[in-house]
Amino acid sequence: SAPLSPVQCMHFLAQGSFSGLQSLPATKHRTHSGPKPPKPENAVTVAVSSRVLFRTEREQQVFDEQGIEEYLRFQVEHENEHFPTGPAFPFVKALEAVNVRLRELYPQSEELFDIVLVTYNHAHVGVRLINTINHHNLFIERFCMTGGTSPIGYLKAFHTNLYLSADADKVREALAEGIAAATMFMSEKLSAVSQTQLRVAFDGDAVLFSDESERIFKAHGLDKFFEHERENEDRLLDHGPLKGFLEALGKLQKKFYAKGHRMDCPIRTYLVTARSAASSGIRALKTLRAWGLEIDEALFLAGAPKGPMLEKIRPHIYFDDQMFHVEGAAEMGTIAAHVPYGIAQKYPRKQ
Ligand SMILES: [Mg+2]
Repeated sequence: SAPLSPVQCMHFLAQGSFSGLQSLPATKHRTHSGPKPPKPENAVTVAVSSRVLFRTEREQQVFDEQGIEEYLRFQVEHENEHFPTGPAFPFVKALEAVNVRLRELYPQSEELFDIVLVTYNHAHVGVRLINTINHHNLFIERFCMTGGTSPIGYLKAFHTNLYLSADADKVREALAEGIAAATMFMSEKLSAVSQTQLRVAFDGDAVLFSDESERIFKAHGLDKFFEHERENEDRLLDHGPLKGFLEALGKLQKKFYAKGHRMDCPIRTYLVTARSAASSGIRALKTLRAWGLEIDEALFLAGAPKGPMLEKIRPHIYFDDQMFHVEGAAEMGTIAAHVPYGIAQKYPRKQ
């Protein structure tokens, strides 16, 4: 990341809904005049860092090797060049496709996805980011350019429902504040994903659910885990860091159902868990049902690798707390994000 002094901190907002923040000046390069962005408290707000929405490794290298002044000069010199797209790009595109459908069905509603671009960068780099956003016809009006300071406070002010970043420390910080968050990685192999349906896949333990059962498994092995889950079948699992985001997706799905679009809903959710259906799966399903959350497809893999199943689903994003699952999925072309939460962080290897 590019550490800059807090003095350079700048914020742009499309609406002056927070005091002290300025409006984003209209640029003459704007290729589309989209609708007004929703108020943060009504929207499902997804904050993405510029380093996962776009690929900026080359710029990062200039920063690391030549320092801040050269880095800023480089960015300004290249401001008419677009950044290549990064791992969060297909996800953000899919969110915007859902918004188009929502606006058709509910022209007045502010219950939409709202994307906030978060960057530690200096405002000079903003011109290049805006040029890239316009080039890709993305609808991103909210920028949070923190000039090197932590964005976590702003994420709270934006009522952020999900934060995606390349910086695992910032993701941990967000999770500690109760914000759903995940780390994304550059991957050379990326499968094509649906242009018309947003697909989001979640691991169960330590992602949608707490790591309670995972702790039993790590400490005492599989047999004790099964025993524990059988004994506690009717006791609900506690919520995990991504539960709120699944809930937000469910809220938008219901808007489609209400207009008769259950079968062709442009949002589809998946549970992809190592639990097995017959034994430990029942507690997971009972918990989701008690929360009032529907998941469209639940896949109980009973310990089988997740990569091949995810390759079939082709989600725009898959969340897992265990790095070996994230890596296994990414190797097969799935866009996988790591949720650095729970007991598994103490055990980096599979066990
Ligand atoms: Mg897990």
